[in-house]
Amino acid sequence: MVEGQVDMDYYLAGIPVRGHSVGGFETWIHLPAMGVSFDIGRASDASLACDTILFTHSHIDHLGGIATHAAARALRGMRPPTYVLPPHVIPHVEALLDAWRSLDGGDLPCNLVPIGVGGQFEIKNRYFARPFPAIHRGKAQGYVISEFRDKLLAKYRGLPGQEIKRLREQGDTIYDRTETPLVAFTGDSCIDVIDREEGLRRARLLILEVTFIDDRVSVDSAREKGHVHLDEVIERADLFENQAILMTHFSSRYNAARIREVLAERLPESLKSRVTPLLNNFR
Ligand SMILES: [Zn+2]
Repeated sequence: MVEGQVDMDYYLAGIPVRGHSVGGFETWIHLPAMGVSFDIGRASDASLACDTILFTHSHIDHLGGIATHAAARALRGMRPPTYVLPPHVIPHVEALLDAWRSLDGGDLPCNLVPIGVGGQFEIKNRYFARPFPAIHRGKAQGYVISEFRDKLLAKYRGLPGQEIKRLREQGDTIYDRTETPLVAFTGDSCIDVIDREEGLRRARLLILEVTFIDDRVSVDSAREKGHVHLDEVIERADLFENQAILMTHFSSRYNAARIREVLAERLPESLKSRVTPLLNNFR
């Protein structure tokens, strides 16, 4: 990892993305246009701009920055962040923050919101995040962020606004709701989530953990650790309908040049033009 380098912003399928992700050290990914982020493994300066964070699981490289993040935002007079967490994690995070309040004397203002699989979190207007179960060491969840749009049913089109208002107020179903998956994040997971979750394959932007990329760690070993190996992505090349795929969470045993080299050599053409590796903070 390199400290102090200038971060690169990524624009993928028209969606701006910022972040750092190094397996075992830190992951935070910010989607500024949507006002939401995933995980805060380490609270770097840039991560302070994130005020709504969807946490995937409680490993330290994904959650370890939470207290520093809350404290630094309070110090700068920023509004208390909202932390969306898998429900079973909440009591432990409360205990962790209380321990830091005792040690540090600060209030660490923040809102903890429990959202598990089956629930959904409204980010803003038409954007919702829904967790799905990930396959990892310990309980983990990923997220699909979708845009919902209500389209007036054909039979009501052309009616005056007052009439539509009246029908709506009397409880008639006048809209057809469409759901478009925009961004999906696997969190830490075995590749099988790609087979299981349609939202991951269809999202305009897929943020996919790919921790291991060559035979220094075998596919079997990657699976035992609850992570993805590049070989497994290549095997499934035909499944990905995404416009863009951001690969994250590479192991720190690789450097940026090696990651670029392996992706250039091994990815099939159908994926190569759509894949971007997240290499901020790599040497
Ligand atoms: Zn993990």
